Amino acid sequence: MATLTRLAEVPVSEIKWLGPKNSAPLFKAGIRTVADLLHHVPRTYIDRSNKPRLDRVVLDTEVTIIAEVKKINTRRPKKVSITEAIIADETATLKVIWFNQPYLQKRFPVGTEAAFSGTVTSRNGSLQMANPVVELLGDDQESIVTGRIVPVHPQVGSVKPWAILRAMHIALTRSRPIPDPVPAEMLERKGLISRDQAFSDIHFPESLERVDPARNRLVYDEFFRLELSLALQKRRQMEDATGFAHTPSGELADRFIAGLPYQLTGAQVRVLVEIGQDLREPHPMHRLLQGEVGSGKTVVAVAALLNGVEGGWQGAIMAPTEVLAVQHYLGVTGLLAQASLSPEPFAAPSDLGMDSLFGTEGPAVHIGILTGSTAAANYRADVSRADLLADVASGQVDILVGTHALIQEGVQFHRLGIAVVDEQHRFGVSQRVKLKEKADEIDPDLLIMTATPIPRTLSMTLYGDLDVSIIDEMPPGRTPVRTKVLSRLEEALAWKRITAEVANGRQAFVVCPLVEDSPKVEAASATAEFHRLSALMPDLRVGLIHGQLKPVEKEAVMSAFRAGEIDVLVATTVIEVGIDIPNATVMVIEDADRFGLSQLHQLRGRVGRGRHRGLCLLIADSATEDGEERLAAMAATTDGFVLAQEDLRIRGQGTVFGARQSGVADLKLADLLRDLDLLTAARNDAFAIVDRDPGLAEHPELAEEVRAMLGESVDWLFKS
Ligand code: ADP
Ligand code: MG
Repeated sequence: MATLTRLAEVPVSEIKWLGPKNSAPLFKAGIRTVADLLHHVPRTYIDRSNKPRLDRVVLDTEVTIIAEVKKINTRRPKKVSITEAIIADETATLKVIWFNQPYLQKRFPVGTEAAFSGTVTSRNGSLQMANPVVELLGDDQESIVTGRIVPVHPQVGSVKPWAILRAMHIALTRSRPIPDPVPAEMLERKGLISRDQAFSDIHFPESLERVDPARNRLVYDEFFRLELSLALQKRRQMEDATGFAHTPSGELADRFIAGLPYQLTGAQVRVLVEIGQDLREPHPMHRLLQGEVGSGKTVVAVAALLNGVEGGWQGAIMAPTEVLAVQHYLGVTGLLAQASLSPEPFAAPSDLGMDSLFGTEGPAVHIGILTGSTAAANYRADVSRADLLADVASGQVDILVGTHALIQEGVQFHRLGIAVVDEQHRFGVSQRVKLKEKADEIDPDLLIMTATPIPRTLSMTLYGDLDVSIIDEMPPGRTPVRTKVLSRLEEALAWKRITAEVANGRQAFVVCPLVEDSPKVEAASATAEFHRLSALMPDLRVGLIHGQLKPVEKEAVMSAFRAGEIDVLVATTVIEVGIDIPNATVMVIEDADRFGLSQLHQLRGRVGRGRHRGLCLLIADSATEDGEERLAAMAATTDGFVLAQEDLRIRGQGTVFGARQSGVADLKLADLLRDLDLLTAARNDAFAIVDRDPGLAEHPELAEEVRAMLGESVDWLFKS
């Protein structure tokens, strides 16, 4: 009897029978300990449990015959060798033959009792079994490869399948019973079998029906460990954080919402309630807000910020790029102006900076924008960077919009209370620390927004220490973007379509192929495409944007496009995230098969954002099989969650996560597409346990398993 963590300390080489010759290749394949070996589950199973008497054998089915060798000899006609034996039980005899294994004659001399597994066939009226698997009996050993459900393992390095089985059998026998650290009542509620039974049944099931319950239990354990570690991390973050409770009356946010020219969707209202509850709690909010592009996340974010502002706190919105920061600034000021009872004139991009956006009748909300040094100076000739920073430090600025500059440079807030981070679901621990520094060692409430659809299994694993809110409803009246795949030969159709849309006053994007790891080459090919398309559509105003341009140049191109001075914008993926040009209706993506699904989805979200229906044309030739699947998925649905799920299916969870995500990389048996129910159960159980026993002091074996999984110094997690 040994716990799993104990077994994780015993090297496979200690399984006597294996020896160094077999342990070395196993070690190389990552099977280093007895625990690793036990987690190395069969690929599939062969049912050899049918053990009829010889006179009851059914032809052409897999059977195992227990019989004695009566006669054996080897012939060598031409180049083959044929070893032929007659075997018998008490009811009948049968001919058995093997090809090219002459040594078997010595191994199975007359009188040998053995189990012969194979199919019996009839040839020219006589029965025979060709190339059976044979297992010797009699020395008290349990049969492993005959007469039962036999697990199938691929060879590992030079270690043959039968050797793996033999080692597994020894390891399992020696280790059992494996104690179960999961509280029995949790298992019972879900009908999960014991851990000991699960290991036994996954490796040597008595019937095939026992495999699934065994797998379920082991998958549950994988999820359970991962979720325990997330629950512990979350608890720690909460307890180490210096939060505070916002106490807004909600009046400012209500005024804002009432002033909008539309009703919030049900989903927006629900999410706002969830956020509001977080804000009122004394510990900092740490919430992921998911919603498709155009689902109205910004409105929600602004309402949340206003709840902070009402109590005298400052808010921040952080965008991943300067272009997006500017756009957010325009968006937020626009929304506030829209909602204002007597709005001030909308600030034109040329004199951005700090604006008072509620009119004279309402309280003023001051908004500032801060991006990289050059661009900031560029926006506001009349407000210097130093003045802006002074206003932020004195609390004059209520909401500061910007890039990472907000937390990276010499910015000091007066009273930062809530931060919204756009499109950076990887906003990690170190960024949070910086945020805390900006806020005088207080942990501001944090809302992370993303339009990247994340299937629930992923948000529960990858982002498992975040609370999740989902806007799963679009504002009414949006028509989904139509998507069509064109071959290179048909590309003229795309340019024709663009020309027609422009004639109707619309605008278009043309996205150039991705050049991995080479922004220079990518920019060059986008430039070439810009010249080619300018020549192909001489009557249209064609613009160009790519990652090699300076931020100021980029913003100049974007504002020209926004202002309708450019008809067709040739772009690299710099426009991927968040760009909002409601008048753009067509997007052409060149070599679309080279993009990943989530990227295509993000790009497509750039069109059809206004009153006019969007069209997305994917140009692709000679796609790979994966590429074709992706394009077909794109054409079939505009539902980002479905696409994310497809992406996971096509690429596989290994690729989607890579090796970086340690916890998720530890999922060996679990399938994030299929095992949602087990994941949910494991998550609930893990969080419930940590709730009751924060340092896992009462569950030492579970604590050990988490330590073993995280594999580093994680003592800080276990303070209670
Ligand atoms: P996201 O950030 O989620 O991509 P936005 O917040 O930018 O979406 O919203 C997209 C557009 O939809 C904006 O012009 C916004 O004013 C508008 N909008 C937001 N919520 C609603 C709603 N409930 N009804 C109608 N229009 C809405
Ligand atoms: Mg947005």
